[in-house]
Amino acid sequence: LERTFSIVKPDATRRNLTGKIVAKFEDAGLRVVAQKRIHLTKAQAGEFYKVHAERPFYDELCEFMASAPIVAQVLEGEGAIAKNREVMGATNPADAAPGTIRADFAESVGENSVHGSDAPETAAIEIAYFFSGLELV
Ligand code: ATP
Ligand code: MG
Repeated sequence: LERTFSIVKPDATRRNLTGKIVAKFEDAGLRVVAQKRIHLTKAQAGEFYKVHAERPFYDELCEFMASAPIVAQVLEGEGAIAKNREVMGATNPADAAPGTIRADFAESVGENSVHGSDAPETAAIEIAYFFSGLELV
């Protein structure tokens, strides 16, 4: 079974939406196999999103990701990476399909409630950034 890395972002933890978001992943057949709530520093958020370092929204994105606790998760299932992204919906909630997490909960393209890995390589890097081998069972 494939594994992917997921974050419930600060806009969603602030509005107490973690359970509603996780329910959508579970309903789609994904299983939470690791989970923790943490409050990133801006530097840690910057390291996580460093592929976007040259984008105009990078500083705002790092501030946002450090603005409140997040819930970091490893999700497991058949085709977990693609399934997770399907359930999240498009980056901009205005473009997200009805019923997706971003359509139902996200506030803007920046504060869009969830992160999901985009490929097997990034999933492996992101899982290892947040979880130790002992936390992955
Ligand atoms: P994520 O990587 O968080 O799962 P994504 O893969 O759908 O989202 P990316 O292009 O990787 O989208 O962008 C990473 C994050 O940067 C987005 O989720 C969003 O929070 C923020 N972002 C992207 N585009 C913009 C924008 N135009 N303005 C502000 N923030 C943005
Ligand atoms: Mg991305």
